[in-house]
Amino acid sequence: MKVAKARQASRWPDAIIAWVSDCTFCKIVAGVLPSYRVLEDEHTLAFLNIRPAAPGHTLVVPRVHVRDVWEISKVSHGEVADMVHRVAALLKATLAPEGVNVKHNTGQAAGQDVFHYHVHVVPRWREDGLRL
Ligand code: C5P
Repeated sequence: MKVAKARQASRWPDAIIAWVSDCTFCKIVAGVLPSYRVLEDEHTLAFLNIRPAAPGHTLVVPRVHVRDVWEISKVSHGEVADMVHRVAALLKATLAPEGVNVKHNTGQAAGQDVFHYHVHVVPRWREDGLRL
C-alpha cells in the first residue's frame, strides 16, 4: 500500500508506517533508519548524504512522502526551500565553502535514485574537481 494511503487508512504511528514502506527517506524521517541529522523542523529534515560528493553534502526532505517536483505542493516546496536556505547558511558558517550547489533531480532520466523529494545542498571549493 502507498504510504500516504496507509496513513489515511490507519491510526498506526508514523514509525510503523515507515517501517513497512519501501521508502528509504520515510524511514530516515521516522528514525527507523539511522542518519546524521543536521537540522529539522515540523515540516522538513536535513541530514548528511551517506555518499557525500563533498564534505557537508546535505539532503533536505519534506517529512511527508512526496515523490518529486511534479508532486510536491507549493506550500511544501516553500518549506523545503526555507530549510535549504538555513542549511546553506549553516554550511557557510561551519565549513566556509567558496560556493554551494543546490540541486534536485526528478525522474530516473534526470538521475533521481530515491523517489522521495529531496534537495542536495553541496558545499563547493574552487578546483574541488566535482562534476555535478
Ligand atoms: O538525487 P538522487 O535521488 O540521485 O539522490 C539520492 C541520494 O540519496 C544519493 O546521493 C545517496 O547517496 C543518498 N542516500 C542517502 N542515504 C541513504 C540512501 C541514499 O544519503 N540511506
